[in-house]
Amino acid sequence: MQNKKLFRKISKAVAVGISTVLLFTLMPVGRVSADTVSDLQASIQEKQNQIKAEQGERDKIKSNITNVKQVKAKLEQSKNDLAAYVTELDHTVMEINDKIDSLNEDIFQKQAEIDETKKELDEAIEIKNSQYAAMKKRVQSLYEQGDNYYLELLFTTHGFGDFLNSMENINKLADYDANMYARYNETVDYVTACEEKLESEEASLQELKKAAEEEKAATEELIKTKQEEIAAYQADIAHQAATLQEYEAELAARDSVIAQIEQQVAAQKAQLAQARVYDGGAFCWPAPSYTRVSSEYGYRVHPIYGTQKFHSGVDLAAPSGSPILAAYDGTVVGAAYNASMGNYVMIDHGDNLYTIYMHASKLLVSSGQTVSRGQKIALVGSTGNSTGPHLHFTVKLNGSYVTPWNYIPHP
Ligand SMILES: [Zn+2]
Repeated sequence: MQNKKLFRKISKAVAVGISTVLLFTLMPVGRVSADTVSDLQASIQEKQNQIKAEQGERDKIKSNITNVKQVKAKLEQSKNDLAAYVTELDHTVMEINDKIDSLNEDIFQKQAEIDETKKELDEAIEIKNSQYAAMKKRVQSLYEQGDNYYLELLFTTHGFGDFLNSMENINKLADYDANMYARYNETVDYVTACEEKLESEEASLQELKKAAEEEKAATEELIKTKQEEIAAYQADIAHQAATLQEYEAELAARDSVIAQIEQQVAAQKAQLAQARVYDGGAFCWPAPSYTRVSSEYGYRVHPIYGTQKFHSGVDLAAPSGSPILAAYDGTVVGAAYNASMGNYVMIDHGDNLYTIYMHASKLLVSSGQTVSRGQKIALVGSTGNSTGPHLHFTVKLNGSYVTPWNYIPHP
């Protein structure tokens, strides 16, 4: 919210800046008084301070943007890490699902075996029971017939030997019944044991399935939590993005304010150049450390080719690094490097009068700067088209070269 307020404030400032620029472009440009020169200089100074202040604010916003970007990048990293973790958890859930499926299959298999075993048990019990019934019947009939049965057996058999044989047979039958009953009983016990074993195996499988389902539920709960965290990160990232956007809008607004003030400064500098008047005062010697005039102004014959060539200024031989002075008050309109002039300075003294200083080893002023007579503006050198350290000094009036000796005394 704070940022939005600031943004509106800046937008307003930009609007004011635009109207100021419009005012300036509408102002008539032309010759103005000396008072206007100092007013313009003060106004330019003030605007340059304003630009500096704006740039300071701009740098603060830029550093804020860097910070927010870092925070946002960290949040995005955390979000991506979480998303990767959730993907991993999703895989875990899929694996658990596979495990549960496989356990369900095992349980189904086990239950089929249990059913089969139960059928076997029922059959075994039935066999055992029918054996028991048959045996019981035989024992009962023996019992009901009692001792008479043995007497009858004794009389109906042929002799005692036969009787003994019959008795033996009865005993054999009883042994057989008992044996069979024991065997069937064993079978029932065995199948019961089998069933119990299968049931305990099924119980273990159910136990495993329950554990897997619990693990799945826990993992799904974790996924839900992590997704909530991701959503929180996302909201935070969106918030940071909105802040970033506000800062960027603020930065653009400040840039636009700076550009407009710079435009105003340029317009005022142009006015200042127009306002300057040359009062006819005497120039000062531009190279105080000079040793001799190494080349004169005007046409000279080339020492080898014999051709005539125009020399646009005077060459003052001087040690490298010695000072070059502004010949008179003025505004620097050029301070740069050029292949033939080397490092040069051009000063506008008003009324279409200019001086140019060439081949400097170092420039000490910049374009747009106001300089006064005798001010150190550069150091002597041999840059550009030069054969040794010297100052080439040119005077230009109304667009034409004139002899510098009209302005500085010939030694
Ligand atoms: Zn020269």
